[in-house]
Amino acid sequence: MATERMTLLWFQTGSCGGDTMSILSADRPSFTDLFNDYPLELLWQPSLSIESVTSLNDIMDRILNGSQRLDILCIEGSIITGPNGTGMYDAFRKTAKKEWVERLAQKARYVVAMGTCAAFGGVHAAPPNPTDCIGLQMDKDTPGGLFAPDWRSGAGYPVINIAGVLCTPIP
Ligand code: SF4
Repeated sequence: MATERMTLLWFQTGSCGGDTMSILSADRPSFTDLFNDYPLELLWQPSLSIESVTSLNDIMDRILNGSQRLDILCIEGSIITGPNGTGMYDAFRKTAKKEWVERLAQKARYVVAMGTCAAFGGVHAAPPNPTDCIGLQMDKDTPGGLFAPDWRSGAGYPVINIAGVLCTPIP
């Protein structure tokens, strides 16, 4: 019986895109090998998907209405909460990306913070932090970011932080 592929959606928030570049530079395994050798299905990746953004809209809508399974949600970039907690400095489809992340994360079996910004807020959260950046489940070294410390994904895990020493997952 064929193994069911785990679906992965990669969503960028307050990001320079460097984590994507880092992952694309990996060679053991390469990003391509990862999808060839493991039972993974890439639903969307901003630098790899050739479909228009309309496709991403459809995928996100299907995830949220329950017709598309989401196993792994990868977030690249800080969570921007300004101005005044609205998150509208960083919006997608007229909705703050932080809200999209909250909605998608409720559907995901695993949520991965890809890079130091997604994990802890990173360079964008450095003082004076004009856009009020935080991490997914950490605010720099303090537990609790977009999600409270006791938040768990569908599979029962906290956010899985894959942060580099300073920045990207792969130096
Ligand atoms: S962790 Fe580094 S590469 Fe990733 S978004 Fe932040 S600054 Fe860019």
